[in-house]
Amino acid sequence: MKAFYLMQNEVQHYAWGSIGKNAFIPRLLQLSNIGDKPYAELWMGTHPNAPSRCAETGRLLSELIRENPEAALGNALAAGSSSLPFLAKILSVSGILSIQLHPAEEDAVHLHQKDPEHYPDRGEKAEIAVALEPLQALAAFPDPPQLKTIIQSYESLHFLLEELDFHKKRLEIHRNISSKIIEITRTPELLDTLLQDLKREILGKPTQNDNESLFLKLFDSYASDAGLIFVLLLEYHQLEPGEALYLKPGEPHAYISGNLIEAMVNSDNVIRVGLTPKFKDPENMLNCLRSSDSSALLSPLQNRYVKSYIPDTEAFRIHLIEMNCAEMPWNGLNNPAVFLCLKGEYILQSQQDVLTVQSGQSVFIAAETTEFIIKSKKDSQAVLYQSAY
Ligand SMILES: [Zn+2]
Repeated sequence: MKAFYLMQNEVQHYAWGSIGKNAFIPRLLQLSNIGDKPYAELWMGTHPNAPSRCAETGRLLSELIRENPEAALGNALAAGSSSLPFLAKILSVSGILSIQLHPAEEDAVHLHQKDPEHYPDRGEKAEIAVALEPLQALAAFPDPPQLKTIIQSYESLHFLLEELDFHKKRLEIHRNISSKIIEITRTPELLDTLLQDLKREILGKPTQNDNESLFLKLFDSYASDAGLIFVLLLEYHQLEPGEALYLKPGEPHAYISGNLIEAMVNSDNVIRVGLTPKFKDPENMLNCLRSSDSSALLSPLQNRYVKSYIPDTEAFRIHLIEMNCAEMPWNGLNNPAVFLCLKGEYILQSQQDVLTVQSGQSVFIAAETTEFIIKSKKDSQAVLYQSAY
């Protein structure tokens, strides 16, 4: 195999994406003639819903990997992966995404068997989101005592606390509250009245917090949507560039606005519970809900040129690289990687190959290319997605 393959990737035009020639993805890819389609996600990987190709030959990256599994995947192959173990993305969010969560492995197997149309993948999905510009997101329920205080501050939500034992495990508390919200969606008139009451209560407060401002902003577009209640209860995060969230399987979340890097296990399973006209699946949201004690915020390890975002799965890492006319050696540790130049220009150099990578270009790096050098021109930024088996 060659050391480096320039990639050709697909864009997903989901409705919540950014529109116009100043949108992040068209700017990054230097596209003209983009019309008025939203540019939501750039996918780099082998997922069949938008598979990447080798730019030079037009062949699918998945075919190249299938023909050279050991060289392309290295340790990831030994760990049981027959394609790229992660899916690398850029997201550009201008309207809020649905309130969603992703299933853990045991749930994904079951969901895929029962409903392959809505759940195309068998594997679990965890994801890291790194802000490239200020990013707003909702992620995970707060600790039970804090959640109780929030609920108590809205008279119309007091029913969520009825017969709720706060000595129980946090997952049981979060599930109990979610199930009461979902229960009320079965009676649309009740839900409408509740949402109107909540709106009145929020407008009656002297000031509104971030969750409440978002609730009011979304109210007219999502009337009769129980997602609005989750907007008040989930933790609101305001991330600066370089700050990150790690969303484990089963953690509810929604990105609100901003441009971000995302890496995830190679899966497209999404369980939606609100704020979307797409298929909602509240029953499975309850079944697949998980609740972690640790914060969703993920601090990177920082060395000279690199911030590394390391989750507790070996399937993926994100390395955000910022260099100014510099060079550094990199050891891929026999794992596959995808390199995307975000700004400036880089040169990748192994013993056998050299490749210049310009802003917006991405490269598949075979696992057997363990040692290579990353050189940058002035003021350059890149992201290296990699597994670490
Ligand atoms: Zn997600």
